[in-house]
Amino acid sequence: MVVYKCFKCGKKINTNDLDKRFVCPYCGSKIFYKPRTVIKKLKAD
Ligand SMILES: [Zn+2]
Repeated sequence: MVVYKCFKCGKKINTNDLDKRFVCPYCGSKIFYKPRTVIKKLKAD
């Protein structure tokens, strides 16, 4: 399991919650980062 943080709202999101759609369930942002690594853009389609 991988945990990302939403770049916009800062909520933690794990990959199980995303269910293959990389969209923040809280704010709809598509930009996440891993707390320990660099910012990463993920495609939603
Ligand atoms: Zn968000």
